[in-house]
Amino acid sequence: MTAKTLYIKAQKEKHGTLPGTSGRVRCAFFRFSLLFSIIPLFLCLFSACRKSAQLSSEIYAMDTYMELKAYGGEAEDLLEKAEKEIFRLERLFSATSAESELYRLNLSGSGAVSPELAEIISVSLALSRKTGGAFDPSVRPLLRLWGFTEDEFRVPSEAGIAAALERVGAERISADGTEVLLNGCELDLGGIAKGYAADRFAGIAAESLCGGAFANLGGMICAAGTKPGGEPWRVALQSPLGEGYAAVLSVSNVCISTSGAYQRFFESGGKRYHHIIDPSTGFPAESDLLSATVIDESGCFADAVSTALFVMGEDASAKFCRQNGVCAILITEDMRLLCLGGAENFLEEVSGETFTLCIG
Ligand code: ADP
Ligand code: MG
Repeated sequence: MTAKTLYIKAQKEKHGTLPGTSGRVRCAFFRFSLLFSIIPLFLCLFSACRKSAQLSSEIYAMDTYMELKAYGGEAEDLLEKAEKEIFRLERLFSATSAESELYRLNLSGSGAVSPELAEIISVSLALSRKTGGAFDPSVRPLLRLWGFTEDEFRVPSEAGIAAALERVGAERISADGTEVLLNGCELDLGGIAKGYAADRFAGIAAESLCGGAFANLGGMICAAGTKPGGEPWRVALQSPLGEGYAAVLSVSNVCISTSGAYQRFFESGGKRYHHIIDPSTGFPAESDLLSATVIDESGCFADAVSTALFVMGEDASAKFCRQNGVCAILITEDMRLLCLGGAENFLEEVSGETFTLCIG
């Protein structure tokens, strides 16, 4: 059984939902019987409860389980809109589904695309340039070679890697308005699509009159607004060592993305191979980081840059964050939790027994 199959099995056991389904849980905040018996007395109490009632839903989209939460009167409407939107984005951005717009672009190699696909491609290309190619949306031939696109994992030959590398290089791709020219490359938006979805979730939440909304899109967090009453959201940063958390953050109005080698991998010959590829070598990144987390208002930025920081490793990441004012938390192999760009201001708690807090 592959690591991913094991993961999905564990998630199914935990959540009891099947891929593609959505389960809505209504919190039973209201006691209707009471309302009917002593309506006048409880009218005020009822309206106060309505404001803080929480709805949540779980969906399987973009190859991962996602959890959405919303508070207040328009919560149900918000969750419905958000679910529809995420499934719609999946149909645009999936590199593997033959129904998707990206799939058709990869097949044809060029042409006019929808404004949204054009937008995410041009943002990806800009972030690829900004990160010196560490984030590269054209790594798809390498992902396929290593078996990450179809979950048929294998260690490829050096010659295979060299041949795939010939077809990788975001600088060869051009996007002029909605006209895209791939120039022999193929796109995989797996390192940024969930960030784009997080941005859309924040947009939907901002348009709604609901009292706060939160999404965990398979590790990509969108803490839209605040909790009811203006309280910040508390977000646990998963420990890259396995169970438990490394830190707890207290945030509002931001997206948080974490990239790490522990999320998807296979083992062969006693060595672990994970799904974040170093575009300069064609191999899974030999990072001295266990995970890289970016906190930013933009989900796209947080998602793409967390992937890039993991590829860069500690020294280059720290330099990049200082130069560009990036708010990040790096967890290093020697168990330091290194805060950059003011990330320590979001820390509420650090699992101090395991990790040493450093501010850089
Ligand atoms: P995840 O999506 O697993 O939470 P990331 O945001 O770090 O984690 O994205 C990893 C995904 O991005 C991979 O599954 C793959 O689709 C794609 N990818 C892998 N390496 C790179 C890279 N160097 N640049 C851009 N995308 C990458
Ligand atoms: Mg990413």
